[in-house]
Formats: sequence, C-alpha cells, structure tokens
Amino acid sequence: MGYNYTYVYLSSPSYVGSSFLELLMSAHPQVATVGELAFNFSKYYQCTCGKRFCDCEFWTGWQNKVRAEGLPFEIGSLNINLQPTVGKGFWDSLFYYEFASSFVNNVRDWLYTWPSFYREWGAVVKDAVSRTEKYAEILCQSENASVFFDSSKNPYQVRFLSRHLKNRFKLIYMMRDARAQINDLMNREKRSLEEAVLLFRWHSRNLERIIKHYVRPDDVFRIRYEDLCDDTIDMLKSLCRFLEIEQFPELTTEMTSLPNKYHFLTNMYQPFKEIQLQDAKRWQSELSSEQIAYIDKELGAINKFYGYE
Ligand SMILES: [Zn+2]
Repeated sequence: MGYNYTYVYLSSPSYVGSSFLELLMSAHPQVATVGELAFNFSKYYQCTCGKRFCDCEFWTGWQNKVRAEGLPFEIGSLNINLQPTVGKGFWDSLFYYEFASSFVNNVRDWLYTWPSFYREWGAVVKDAVSRTEKYAEILCQSENASVFFDSSKNPYQVRFLSRHLKNRFKLIYMMRDARAQINDLMNREKRSLEEAVLLFRWHSRNLERIIKHYVRPDDVFRIRYEDLCDDTIDMLKSLCRFLEIEQFPELTTEMTSLPNKYHFLTNMYQPFKEIQLQDAKRWQSELSSEQIAYIDKELGAINKFYGYE
C-alpha cells in the first residue's frame, strides 16, 4: 500500500448545514478535500479559485498525477458515485437496497457473485472504490495531509467505502432538527410536507442500517448542526480527537472566506458567517401548528432519538 491516510466520509440529509462543517474541515492543514468528490459536474464550471476547473492548476495538477500512475481521471467526470439509477429496474434497485436484516443482505450479496451480475454491479463497485482510494491517496500525498474528507453525503456510498477501502474509514453523520430540515425542504425545493417527511425518513433509515451493518461504532461521529453552531470550538476539538489529528491551529469563528488552497464548486461556497448565522429556530414561525403536529406524529420518535424534543 502507498501513502497512508484516513478516509473520512460525511453523510447527512439535505439542509443540515453540512457546508458549514465542510468549510471548517477544509481549513485544517492535515485535511485534504474537494467537497463532494463523488458527484459529476462540468469541467467548464467555475472553481472557487476563480478559474474554470479545466484551467485550475490544482485540478489539472491532480489529474496529471493520477494519469501518470496509469489511471483514468477526467475533471468533473470521475464516475465514482454508487447509487441506483432511476429506471434501471428491479435488479439494480435490489443490489443497492439495504435490508434491515444482515442475513437478507448477505444472501443478496451472494446472488450478485454470479458472473453476469458481478460484471454489471460488483465489478463497477470495485473499480469505483479502488479509483476513489487512489485519487484520495494522490491528493493527500501531494498536500501532505493525513485525512481525506469527502462530503458526498450519499448514504449508499458508505456501504461500499467501509467494506472495500484498504485505508482506515471513518464516518461523520451530521443531522439537524427534523422540523428545521423539513421546513427548508419545503421552502427551498418546493417539496410537499409528505414528500419532505419521506425524504427525511429515507435517509435516516438507510444510513442507520448501513452504519449498523458495516461501520464499527468507534468509527462513527454523530454531530448535530445546532451543537456545532453553539459550541463550534468544542465540537471541533472532539472531531479532531475522533479523526486522530492535531487540534485546529488558529481557528476563529471570525473567518469570512476560504483560504485559497481550496478548490470547490462555486455554487457550494457560501461565506462562513452567512452559513453560521442561519436562524436555527426559524421553523417555529414558518411551519403551521398542523404541520408541526404531522411531523411529530411521523418523525417524533426518530427526532427524539437524535436528541430533539
Ligand atoms: Zn481552483
């Protein structure tokens, strides 16, 4: 094995403030990150450094180093995201589905060792994970980092990364009060209340099952957005201990911009203060009492499990 590092994956539902955590983590000198690694984007989009991705020295330098090792690397088209494809049918859904029972999952996995199934799914996973690991390794090595931070969020990815990566794998599970998340899903994505509740439940159910089946309890760090806002410094101290890295050198909550070593998709970037100052209790005035009662009825137990009363 080459350069040794820890692969850290952030999974969370939408609108839990994960970009705040991304920005904080990216400021750590031992952390290498490009945000959501798994998702494809156009290489003609603008990088946070101001150039197009295809002209950015960080991305082209990474691409050249990977290609020098004989691996494919197309900026914005890594094709490493693992999840069912809409319309691909029953066998595709079955491959990705996470059953509550490990026994049923194991039987399903055995079924997919059949050669024509393996070619279609198993080989694709193996290729995606081994390239992911190599891409992260090359970046960590050139940045002298001991942690690769991937904030792709997709819970399916956790099952494959935790099982097949050769390097150490750790998971950060970020959450936020269900009522605040659902309020944001309705406002920003124009989802109906019922749809937003289903989305919340989908993520929580899948990720909890995947954690239970594939991730060692010591390798999971659960973080609530509200605690990160209230106690930023303390939460980051715990996070550094979990990641086994040094404490942040000079972190202040007065940071207003990304240091220029970071190369994210521009639309992910929001100034630090704006992210931090979102009103955590806005849902109380924006949701009706009927809507709050519906969310409590459907998700009250899960929300309580995450510590929200
Ligand atoms: Zn750039």
